[in-house]
Amino acid sequence: MAADDQTPPFAGVLCRRFRVCGVVQGVGFRPWVWRLATGLGLDGWVENDSSGVTIQVEGEEAAVAAFERALRGSPPPQARIEWIDVVTLAPRRSAADAGPRSAAGFTILDSHRQAGGATSLPADIAPCAACLAEIHDPSNRRHRHPFANCTDCGPRFTVIRALPYDRATTTLATFPLCPDCAREYADPADRRFHAQPIACPACGPVVWFDAGPEAHAGRPAPAYGSSDDAIRAARASLRSGSILAVKGVGGFHLVCDATNPAAVALLRSRKHRPSKPLAVIVASAADCAAFASLSAAERRLLESPERPIVLLAKREDGAALAAGAPPAEAVAPGIAHVGVMLPAFPLHALLLDAADGRPMPALVMTSGNVADAPIEIDNAAAIAHLGPIVDGFLLHDRPIHVPCDDSVVRLAAGHLLPLRRSRGYAPLPLPLADDGPDLLAIGGELKATLCVARGRHAWMSQHVGDVTIPAALSTLERTARHLLALFAIRPAAIAADLHPGYLSTELARKFAAELGVPLLQIQHHQAHAAALLADRYATHREPLAGPALIAAFDGSGFCADGSIAGSEFFMCAGGDAAGGGAVSGLQPCARLAPFLLPGGEACIRHPWRTALALLHAAGIPWDAALPPVQAAGLAAPILRRQLDRRLATVITTSMGRLFDGVAAILGLRQSIDHEGEAAMSLEGLASDPLASPRIHSFTIHPLAGGTFCIGWEALLRGIVADLRAGVAPRDLAAGFHRAVAEMIVAVAGAVGDSQEGERPLAVGLTGGVFQNALLVEEAFACLTAASYEPFGHRIVPPNDGGIALGQILLGRAALARSRCPQAVKAGGID
Ligand SMILES: [Zn+2]
Ligand SMILES: [Zn+2]
Ligand SMILES: [Zn+2]
Repeated sequence: MAADDQTPPFAGVLCRRFRVCGVVQGVGFRPWVWRLATGLGLDGWVENDSSGVTIQVEGEEAAVAAFERALRGSPPPQARIEWIDVVTLAPRRSAADAGPRSAAGFTILDSHRQAGGATSLPADIAPCAACLAEIHDPSNRRHRHPFANCTDCGPRFTVIRALPYDRATTTLATFPLCPDCAREYADPADRRFHAQPIACPACGPVVWFDAGPEAHAGRPAPAYGSSDDAIRAARASLRSGSILAVKGVGGFHLVCDATNPAAVALLRSRKHRPSKPLAVIVASAADCAAFASLSAAERRLLESPERPIVLLAKREDGAALAAGAPPAEAVAPGIAHVGVMLPAFPLHALLLDAADGRPMPALVMTSGNVADAPIEIDNAAAIAHLGPIVDGFLLHDRPIHVPCDDSVVRLAAGHLLPLRRSRGYAPLPLPLADDGPDLLAIGGELKATLCVARGRHAWMSQHVGDVTIPAALSTLERTARHLLALFAIRPAAIAADLHPGYLSTELARKFAAELGVPLLQIQHHQAHAAALLADRYATHREPLAGPALIAAFDGSGFCADGSIAGSEFFMCAGGDAAGGGAVSGLQPCARLAPFLLPGGEACIRHPWRTALALLHAAGIPWDAALPPVQAAGLAAPILRRQLDRRLATVITTSMGRLFDGVAAILGLRQSIDHEGEAAMSLEGLASDPLASPRIHSFTIHPLAGGTFCIGWEALLRGIVADLRAGVAPRDLAAGFHRAVAEMIVAVAGAVGDSQEGERPLAVGLTGGVFQNALLVEEAFACLTAASYEPFGHRIVPPNDGGIALGQILLGRAALARSRCPQAVKAGGID
């Protein structure tokens, strides 16, 4: 190539080769290139290879320039180009031959497999406008076909068994193409050229409705002739108040009519889920305007090809509610937000449309699982496990290879804040600032995801869930093996959390033993901080300009000295902050003043216990009128003895528990049934548009070793005094959020004053507490006003669903230190 490069081109004719890297396979890239090159009269070829797509074009200089402009400026909608290498080659023909009537033509070469593994695997893509138009067009052969897809849309990650991505390596391999589909598949001018999951009513998968336990044999019920008959039968059943299990793209959903309070209550009681918010699906963004407020940015997120669940503020004005048919309050009780999504699968669009003349305004769509087990993907297993919960099954026979829950996102401070990165996003590659050895990072315990890395790419898995459940732990293991195989990764080490009790750490130990590589245990909050730095690099593609402070706030994380922390601030140097250098230099510099949790884990489920412990520590009397004292009832004296004598207590610095305690003091939640419930209700109360923040002060004390401790006792005393004086809880909730934002600014100031030349320029926010959009917005506003550059998560979640990415960076840094004889072995090579 280098020799070719030196050859001067013939005047007027140009030959160029482009190597395009990024997400360029499985997204209609080659047919797009074919159409573009053919339209411009260029000769040449395009082929997939292990690192992306290689294109060679030859023709008139102006046509080649136009080709390059389009390649850089307007690639296919689902493609994500990371970089393009260009070389100029000697043309094979003279200027006289060039032009639109050239005989050589442009061809699509067969996929070319190289050693070294792929760098990209497409995520599932929601139905495109063209496919949706077809399924609603009575003259189209795919009219009301629930599996319509094309090169721009359709299932990908969930149906791919192996690479290269070809129909034979997907779960569609058992569906031979009919002549019409085969023609579309082979025609480069067709939008279904090489669309691997292509299907039609003649040759594709089918849907059937299985109502009642006697029909639970898992085979198509003869009563329903076509897929559409089955969908109509399911709609009729939903209208009558049934709960159905519906097989989707990445697994089953439990579905009921969201506008029917009795159906929602029935679903809650059968799923033993009294208050956890349920997501709803509507046919279009306009359909949620009746019950949720929607900004232009939120609408773009809802309609994006990733089709996540978007958390939207509920509309509280009665007029709007009366005009539409809003989802029952029971869908998301007692909180200010509701999760909404649009159809990510043509089947879902058909369930919602008004084909029978009556619209279906909104359906509840929640993960089809029992308790927190992984989402069901197999027909027979779903019938066995979900049978007792549902009244019927809407099934199909397109096998799901990888379970993949819906993603959940919201907007905070004008940016996307991911809460769960799964369908539509996983496993798109994330660019890393630095190269390093192959690694597998196994993540945490709740909201588990894992991450694999090779060179300057990392791939986060889909959301696996709570791996204290054996079935979820097996899913995590299968996911690890699948991703290692797909990307041909040979880990030089396995990274895991430092917590000795995490089952994921046991799984990491098993992998390390099997592969004969070290296990690297990474401190929890450092992993959060490193994940944020990697996220920032992936978003900005440049390192931090100077020193940064990172606030990591969550429920709990295990520390090297055996203590449990839940609020840690780190300083890190600028320059190469996303690389191993800076992340290995994360210096702890501040935390909340510690407090006791009586009964340890019991405090998580019963925020009143945390509230009483906080009041006790702050010297505030347990006034019988305070809601947590009332909730404690006869248990109060026992708890007091426990706290006085420090019996069966755990010491913590948890910001998550501080939020829980304040929520209980303000009378919001004394006991909870899902993680983050109390904090979510506090955010909802504080987001009341009528709230005028009532802000109380806190203290900052220097500790030995140049670190700082934030005293929250005065803050709590102020809140309780105001509450007794009749100040509205919403004003106190808003003031508490502001005070926590100001704590971050105060720590940045204290750290800057104490260390010569180490004043932070940027301040990052990570940890599960920052799922709170109001807190993110308050912190951004306060930090900006104090001239810091705030940054938060935009690609991986701030919660434990993001830590595997941080474990990759810190694992590589630990591996580098262990290989350097002068290095100090800090925290963790097993
Ligand atoms: Zn399409
Ligand atoms: Zn067909
Ligand atoms: Zn955490």
